[in-house]
Amino acid sequence: MKTAPSQYAERLRRPSVIRSLTLGPITVTYVPDGAVRLSPHDWLPATSEATWREHAEYLDGTGGLAAGIGGLLVESGDRALLIDAGFGPVSLPHRPGDPHGPIHGGALPANLARIGRPPAGIEAVAFTHLHVDHIGWARHPAPGGGPLFAEAPYLVAEPEWSRRDLLEAHGTGPDALAELAPRVRTVEDGQEVFPGVTVRFAPGHTPGHTAYVITGGGRRLVAFGDALHSPIQVGHPEWSAAPDHDTGRSADARRRLVAELAAPDTIGFGIHFADVVFGRVRPDGAGRPAWHPVDA
Ligand SMILES: [Zn+2]
Repeated sequence: MKTAPSQYAERLRRPSVIRSLTLGPITVTYVPDGAVRLSPHDWLPATSEATWREHAEYLDGTGGLAAGIGGLLVESGDRALLIDAGFGPVSLPHRPGDPHGPIHGGALPANLARIGRPPAGIEAVAFTHLHVDHIGWARHPAPGGGPLFAEAPYLVAEPEWSRRDLLEAHGTGPDALAELAPRVRTVEDGQEVFPGVTVRFAPGHTPGHTAYVITGGGRRLVAFGDALHSPIQVGHPEWSAAPDHDTGRSADARRRLVAELAAPDTIGFGIHFADVVFGRVRPDGAGRPAWHPVDA
C-alpha cells in the first residue's frame, strides 16, 4: 500500500506561497514575485541521473526543481526592510544552454499589498547579491509608473559592488547597474542595517554574496540568499550550483551554514527553496543533515 504524500512532499514540488515567522518583535515574511524551474543536473552538475532517481521527492511533475523568486520582508513596528527584490514584471522562456528553465516575476507589488505593507514605506532594500532574479523591482517601474520603492537606498555588500564587472555574464549588464547606482549604499561585514539585522559576507556564489542574520526573541534567522538553492544541498553541501563564481568558497560557505543551522534556536531562510523557505537542519534517518521546514 502506498502512503499518501505528506504535506511536506507536496511543498517540495511547488514554489512558496506567502509565509511568515516571528522573532520576538520582528516579523519576517517571504513575499513571492514569481518562479523559476531549475534543471536538476544542469543546475547541480555534481549530481547524476542516479542522484535524482534516488531523490525524486525533490522534483516537480516536469522533472525540474521548483524554485520561488521573491524577497524577504522584515518588519519591526512601523519600520520595514526588504531583502532582495524579485525578478520584476518579466517572463522569459528557457534559452538553450541555460541551467534554468522558464523564469517569471511580477507578483511582488500585489503581494506586498496583500500583506498590508505599501512599498513606499519600505525604508531600505538590502541585496544578497545582484543577479537578475534578486534586483527586479529595484529597477523596473512600479505598476502605474515610477519606482516601486520611492526613496529607499539599495544596500549592497562592498565586495559585490566593487566587482560588479563580473555580473554582466549573469545578465546584470551596465544598463541595469547604471539604474541601480544612484541609490546604492555599500555595506560592510558585521554592519547592522536595521534593528536586529546584520550583514554577513558569505562569498562564493558571487564575490560579494551576503547573508543577513536577523535576531529577535531568543531566535536567530540566517537569510542565506543563494548559498544554497535547493534543500537537497543541505545533505550535500559539496554540490555547487552552475552559476557559482567560486565553487570552493561556495562549498565552504555551505558547510559552515549547514553546521550553523543545526544549532538550537537557529532558522534558515532559503529564498529559492520551493515551498519550504524557512527551516532548520536536523539529521535524517541515516544521520545526514536534512532540511526540516519551520512554519511558526
Ligand atoms: Zn537567485
